[in-house]
Order: sequence, then structure tokens, then C-alpha cells
Amino acid sequence: MSSIAEAVEPKKTPTEAGNYFISNYPPFSFWSPENTKEVEAAFEQTYDDGASLGVYHHIPFCRKRCHFCYFRVYTDKNASEIKDYLDKTITELEYFAKTPRIAGRKPRFIYFGGGTPSYLSGPQLTELTDRMKAILPWDEAEEVAFEGEPGTLNPRKVKAIKNIGVTRLSLGIENFDSRILEINGRAHKASEVYKGYEAAKSEGFDQINIDLIAGMLEETEVNWQRNIEETLKLRPDSVTIYQMEIPYNTTIYKEMKESGSLTAPVADWQVKRRWVKEAFEALESAGYSISSGYTAVLHPDKTKFIYRDELWTGADLLGLGVASISHIAGVHYQNVNEITHYAKAIEKGELPVHRALKTNVEERMIREFLLQMKLGRVSIDYFRTKFGVDLSERYENELKELAEEGLLEYDSENIRLHRRGLLCVDNLLFKFFLPKHVTSRLV
Ligand code: SF4
Repeated sequence: MSSIAEAVEPKKTPTEAGNYFISNYPPFSFWSPENTKEVEAAFEQTYDDGASLGVYHHIPFCRKRCHFCYFRVYTDKNASEIKDYLDKTITELEYFAKTPRIAGRKPRFIYFGGGTPSYLSGPQLTELTDRMKAILPWDEAEEVAFEGEPGTLNPRKVKAIKNIGVTRLSLGIENFDSRILEINGRAHKASEVYKGYEAAKSEGFDQINIDLIAGMLEETEVNWQRNIEETLKLRPDSVTIYQMEIPYNTTIYKEMKESGSLTAPVADWQVKRRWVKEAFEALESAGYSISSGYTAVLHPDKTKFIYRDELWTGADLLGLGVASISHIAGVHYQNVNEITHYAKAIEKGELPVHRALKTNVEERMIREFLLQMKLGRVSIDYFRTKFGVDLSERYENELKELAEEGLLEYDSENIRLHRRGLLCVDNLLFKFFLPKHVTSRLV
């Protein structure tokens, strides 16, 4: 019989199509259009549970579609179409801001994601955020996070991003080699990485994060080492490294299907994990600390990621825009993922919701547990206090097995993942799903 370690980490696992990364629970495939009434009910609930509030604003525009991208993005919208979209998101915010659940609250964190938020011009960003602030003031926001594509950044744009109040700028660098960026369909070139980073650095953001992807098309051992070296030279406040996955709605998957191949033309999972491991070790030698299965931070005491930490401890998240994902009073929902449908719903005064799921307390407990496992450490006491559940008792068998395989250790107070467990954490998490939620495909 194979061990758990072999099951989660066999000798060679090719990268096949599908989602590896677990970003929510219960899985999206259990969210349904029939449950959208639950969304209205969630916003009718008054706020008395102490959850923080965050706002996520989705900008679905990009200069070019990356071959590994599974988001709904638009590369052909003109300024007036973009203005129309931004106006609709403001209407959406105005509506929700008056509901019993949101009225009177101020967001603790704001996140601009995409797509490419930095695709917007400085004046567009200023106007959008002025209008957002007039509806839900940001004076209590401890973090304003913003995703930037290096090729869209110039000193003027970066100044505008700083001036709207962004505290955490995350640069989607992904790789330092222009040829690999090009092969993967990225819009930016390596030279723009350095220009964008320098522009950001000179504006003095509280935090600059850079994203890398281990295992892009045509990545090599030599080039991956170069990626690590270049990262260390830039010395950003935090580095986030994703392991390349190939979801079904990507160009790469389409090409695999056409050629009848089950395996994506990228490194296998063991190589991708080794690359992340090597990067983490190099970053640790340079003074960084590993703060999750994906992230290294330079100054753990001051470099926080409030969006992630609040989301993973049950905050309310109000998602605005096409395909955005929200979590309000225990109800998960996702907006419609086509921009014309989104616009039509807003024009008609309808909720632009595509699918939803009302979670129960047990599901919320599991969700927080799974997400916090990605940090590499879980406080058992947190779950005792918040949910009345002792994780070491509830998951006695699972934790014991994983501990015996050397993937984690635990006592009555904490669960701590070992590096080997942390690098394949998304694979371990399925063990803790309720049986009814275990499926072969999770989106
Ligand atoms: S920049 Fe991001 S959102 Fe845009 S196409 Fe590439 S991966 Fe997708």
C-alpha cells in the first residue's frame, strides 16, 4: 500500500489539466445559481459578529491574455467601455453600502485585483477611488493592496497608485526572462520588470511584493536559478511563488486537447516543488522568513498581508465587478462572469450574482482551518475559542498519519507543517474535506 507521502508526493507526477490551488471551501462546484436568494438574506442581516470588512474590486482588463490564464479577461475594451464598467461597479457598491449588513461599517482592507488593475490610467484610478471613498470611507483601512503588471507602470502611473492610498503593491513579474515571458503570452518584457520595480521603489510604498511562477512553459534549471538571483538583487519586501497549474479554460489546455495530450508541456510537480524549495532556501539565507506555502517576507513583524489573513479568519469580503468572489455573513457568492451580463444586471437593478452557497458553522470552521494550514501553522486554541472544536481530537487520525509521514507535527496547542508538507499543502488539504465535498474536479 502506498504511504500518504507517496500519495501526495509520488516520484514523478506530470502536470495535468485541473486546479491544484485551493482558494476556498466548500469548492466552487457546490455553489449554485439556485442559492442566490441567500445573498439578499445575507445583506439583510445586521452586523453583530465582529467580522472585519474588506472590499475587493475586480478590474478584468489586460493588455494581452497569458496562455496560463483562467480568468475572464478583456483585451479589447476602449476607454468609454472601461468607464462604463467602472461606473457599474460604483452602482454596485452604492447598493450594498446601504444594506443592513454593510451600512455604517468601514473597510479594514481594500484589494484591487484582476485582470490588471494597473491597466487603468492614473485619472481613471483617482476618479474610481474617490467615488469609492465617498461611499465607504477608507480612513480605517489598514491596507490597500493593488496588483500591477510591470509593463503598465511608469513613474506617473506609480505616483497615481501611491496617491490613491495603496500600501501594498504587488508586481506580477512571474519570470525574469523575456523569451519565457513571451512564450507564456505575458505582455511585459524583462526590461520592464526593472523599470516598473524602480518606479515603485522610488514612491516608497509600505510594501512591494513580487509574484513569480515556478514551472512556466520552457522554464529551465539554469533560468530558475537566475530568477532567484534577480529576485534577491531586487530584495522586495515579500516574494510570492506559485506553482504553475493548468486549469481547463486556459490556452495551454486548449492546445493540449487539440494535440490529444494529457500532460501539460511544463515541469512535473516534483520539479516545481523543488524549485520553490530552492527559492525559499535562498531567500531564507538572504534574511527572509517563510510566511506561507507561497510567500517569503523580509520583515515578518512589519510586513503583513491583511487581506489574506482577514479572509482566512472569516472576514466579510464585498466583491465588486464581473466574476468577483464575496463572503458575506457566512454566504459565499460569485458575480456573473461575462461583462455584458454584469452590466445588464446592474442596469436592471438586479443582483449580478451567478452562484452562491450558504455555509454552516462546520463548513466555515473547515474553511478557516484549510486556509490557515497554508500559513504552515495553525493555532488549535483559535478553533477551540471560535468554533468549540478541538482540531487535535476531530482530526486525530489524519494529523497522526501526516505526522508519521513527516509532513507536519502537532501538540495540543499548534499544528506546524514541515517544509515538505508546506510545499505540497494544497494536496494535503483534501484529507480534511467533508466526504460530500471530495470531487475529482474542484471548480
Ligand atoms: S495578466 Fe493576469 S489576469 Fe491578465 S491575462 Fe495574464 S494571468 Fe490573466
